[in-house]
Amino acid sequence: MSLSRLLRLLAAMLTLATALLVGRVATVEWRNQDLAAVGRESVSELRRALAAAEMVSRERGPTNGVLGDDTPPQPQRRERLAEARARSDAALAALGQVLVDGPHDARHQNAERHVQQARDALQRARAGVDALSAVPKAERTPAQIRAQVGAMVAVVPLIAPAISLMAEEAQQALPVLGDDVQGARMAAELREYAGLLGSHFTAALTAQQPFSAEERAAIERTRGRIDQLRGLLDLRLRTPGTADAAQQAWQQVQQAYFGRAASLVDQVVTAGNGDGRYGMDPAAFATAYVPDMNSLFALRDLLLDNAAARASAQARDARRVLWLTAAGSAVLLAVLAVSMLMVQRRLLRPLVQTAGALHALARNDLQAPLPVARAGDEMAAVVGAVRTLQDHTRQRQALEAERDALIEQLRALSNTDFLTGLPNRRAFMLAAERELAQARRHAVSMVLVLLDVDHFKQFNDSHGHAAGDEALVAVAGAVRQALRAGDLVARFGGEEFVLLMAHCTAQQALAFAERLRAAIAAAAVTVPGRGAPARVTASIGLADAGTAPSALADLLDQADQAMYLAKEAGRNRVVLAATDPISPAGAGSS
Ligand code: GH3
Ligand code: MG
Ligand code: MG
Repeated sequence: MSLSRLLRLLAAMLTLATALLVGRVATVEWRNQDLAAVGRESVSELRRALAAAEMVSRERGPTNGVLGDDTPPQPQRRERLAEARARSDAALAALGQVLVDGPHDARHQNAERHVQQARDALQRARAGVDALSAVPKAERTPAQIRAQVGAMVAVVPLIAPAISLMAEEAQQALPVLGDDVQGARMAAELREYAGLLGSHFTAALTAQQPFSAEERAAIERTRGRIDQLRGLLDLRLRTPGTADAAQQAWQQVQQAYFGRAASLVDQVVTAGNGDGRYGMDPAAFATAYVPDMNSLFALRDLLLDNAAARASAQARDARRVLWLTAAGSAVLLAVLAVSMLMVQRRLLRPLVQTAGALHALARNDLQAPLPVARAGDEMAAVVGAVRTLQDHTRQRQALEAERDALIEQLRALSNTDFLTGLPNRRAFMLAAERELAQARRHAVSMVLVLLDVDHFKQFNDSHGHAAGDEALVAVAGAVRQALRAGDLVARFGGEEFVLLMAHCTAQQALAFAERLRAAIAAAAVTVPGRGAPARVTASIGLADAGTAPSALADLLDQADQAMYLAKEAGRNRVVLAATDPISPAGAGSS
């Protein structure tokens, strides 16, 4: 597998792993956030349910006041009662709405039914209270009053299913809310029992009579429950780790309710168990008693606030983790992408290009470009090494080219006559052998021409060796001029020249040789220090090879003999060698 594919695979796997991890964390935190929202909502609903219970409970104060009131009743007590009833109705309506808006499962329906029953029971109790308070005070019996108080007291337990439902919902969503929710419920319950205790006094306070045995028992039961709740709350709120504010609120309760209000209760209980002279009516009792009970609501609200704050903090934490996860994974993926890009740019791409350059180098191609690598990185070292290799190859190629040129030059020099620039004897022998072989194969007619300058020794002697050289150059010029394309020519040695003419008959060769002889005789040779130019002549021997030439040596022999005959016959003439017995041994012209 290629490195870049492997890297892509690795990146894909890392991306997948990150996605899975992020997905997992996101799912969990998303759920936590949802649960926190549910918990917060449940706490807010619990607050409504507790508020409904509180309002119904609070309504008992003005109710008791009216039940113990003189006839005609005091208008401001009626007004207070009307206000309290309006508050209860609003709180119950709000709670009813919460339940209607909520899910329609069996528990919600049950709670909703009970709240409706509470509203009905409240209406009935109020009607009873109104009827009894219309009766002159002296005619209201303690039993009647107790019955009405009892009817009012019986309303609050009907709200309990709603309270339990919401408290449980909050705890189910967020178990950490348990302590605060339970504490708030207990504070509310304690407040309910404290109110109930006050209500138990109403009949006796109205009649200014000692407690009946029944009342005494109810009062003791209620005080017992109050003590029990006090103990539970004390345990809960004094434990280390409870928020300072909650501890302070609990201390406030201890001072207000279990301090001042409790001594008021003691005072009433002492009078109720004694002569029944209380020195206050139900309204006066309520005025003194009720404000100190409010510290319990303060505690309840504080604990509910704590629960709500905890739920909000949980939601915030979940959101923060979500954001951190998202940001972290984004950074991780960005780093991954940048790393991939860098590996691609600084390693893989240069590597591929370098490999290309190396392959090209193997084909002796030095033009393939090399990547530009950053100084100091490992790739730069590789590129540097390949560049050095390219340089060495370039130098080697240059040396080889130089050597080849030199060899070619030497070869040319070894085949060329220095003086005339014509091919030398050696070159002629090689080329002529090839030509003859070809002519034999293709039945091409060939003629060999041998030329020797006449009395050349004498020319040298009279004009000097340099002039002799000049004469040889002039003869070579004449030969070159006469030459046809494709004919071989060479300086055969000394003052002798040779030609091998292809596609040529004896007649054509004779005509050619004659023209050449005339051209040589006409050529002027400049001799230094001599006014007129000197002239030379040449004797030419021809050997007709026909279309089946014999060996080159034989042809040369024949031409040489013909040339000798030309010399013999007086020089400056052309002689064709006899090729067969029919032909004459020589034919010449002068
Ligand atoms: P013949 O007419 O019989 O051919 O007489 P010849 O004098 O030409 O013949 P010979 O063989 O006696 O002399 C050839 C002379 O050519 C001798 C030699 O000094 C001269 N020669 C050979 N090569 C060169 C050369 O390269 N330059 C010069 N200047 N003379 C040369
Ligand atoms: Mg000679
Ligand atoms: Mg000669």
